[in-house]
Amino acid sequence: LSTDSDVVHRESESMSKKTLRSNAEKFEFQAEVSRLMDIIINSLYSNKDIFLRELISNASDALDKIRFLALTDKDVLGEGDTAKLEIQLDKAKKILSIRDRGIGMTKEDLIKNLGTIAKSGTSAFVEKMQSSGDLNLIGQFGVGFYSAYLVADYIEVISKHNDDSQYVWESKADGKFAVSEDTWNEPLGRGTEIRLHLRDEAGEYLEESKLKDLVKRYSEFINFPISLWASKE
Ligand code: ADP
Ligand code: MG
Repeated sequence: LSTDSDVVHRESESMSKKTLRSNAEKFEFQAEVSRLMDIIINSLYSNKDIFLRELISNASDALDKIRFLALTDKDVLGEGDTAKLEIQLDKAKKILSIRDRGIGMTKEDLIKNLGTIAKSGTSAFVEKMQSSGDLNLIGQFGVGFYSAYLVADYIEVISKHNDDSQYVWESKADGKFAVSEDTWNEPLGRGTEIRLHLRDEAGEYLEESKLKDLVKRYSEFINFPISLWASKE
């Protein structure tokens, strides 16, 4: 775990505006996914830390996938392509980002994996949450990504897969999401950046010490280096 206090500054049209891009293609979440998100965003569940475990685990899976492909085709990796996972804090904009150099998602992957195709565990998890209120097992039901809405009210997923251009998925967990070709962010090369626009109540996740503790806790099971960057206030 390394930290750096350099300002991490990337230009974006609407980085701190919590509105879906008006010219983006809009999609509706599959009904069960929408219900799940509704429950998460209104949940009083106190152990919100688990969202970071889920996002780190997704980033790690994505790194495993590209590493696996590279075993038989080294061309899938770019030059100087190191397996890494970066967490960045922008205190001024209240944005927490998790970025990986993993396999990335095509436009179609973004639409299917993050919204239109419900996993078999979705309704089972909705039922479980309604009876127990316990979100801790969310990852086991194959819907861990949505736990990010415990701390964020607007999320952008920027992703670049080798087979497609760079795209942005965005949603405020209000039944719909939008996908657009990314013409404004820095090119990722390959991989995914999950940009969490934190809720007002989730300010603790902008504290470096809190993040360091969490990263230490969750990186124990991760085979890739994780770095933490924070902007100056
Ligand atoms: P699970 O990880 O159990 O499949 P999640 O809800 O955590 O379920 O994630 C849903 C899907 O979204 C993943 O299966 C994967 O296809 C995609 N995904 C999520 N995060 C990433 C990422 N960082 N890189 C690539 N794909 C991702
Ligand atoms: Mg997961």
